[in-house]
Amino acid sequence: MLKDRRRTTRRRIIKRKNCFYCKQKIEPDYKDLETLKHGVSDRGKIIGRMLSGICQKHQKALSSAIKRARYIAILPYVVRPS
Ligand SMILES: [Zn+2]
Repeated sequence: MLKDRRRTTRRRIIKRKNCFYCKQKIEPDYKDLETLKHGVSDRGKIIGRMLSGICQKHQKALSSAIKRARYIAILPYVVRPS
């Protein structure tokens, strides 16, 4: 039973280093809306690292930058579909 479960679950996901901030050699900035949009979905949610491909260091900085931008009302918390 256990062996079967181990064998069948977990698809392998190919990890590709595709960090936008490493490529551009910039750091996430809460004032820079254009680059913050890379880490936000169209509903205004923060995209996870597995999906966006941003590295750990920049994801952490980016999420806090997004939260800061939300707090000072540059970025919306929720985007409602129209
Ligand atoms: Zn990076």
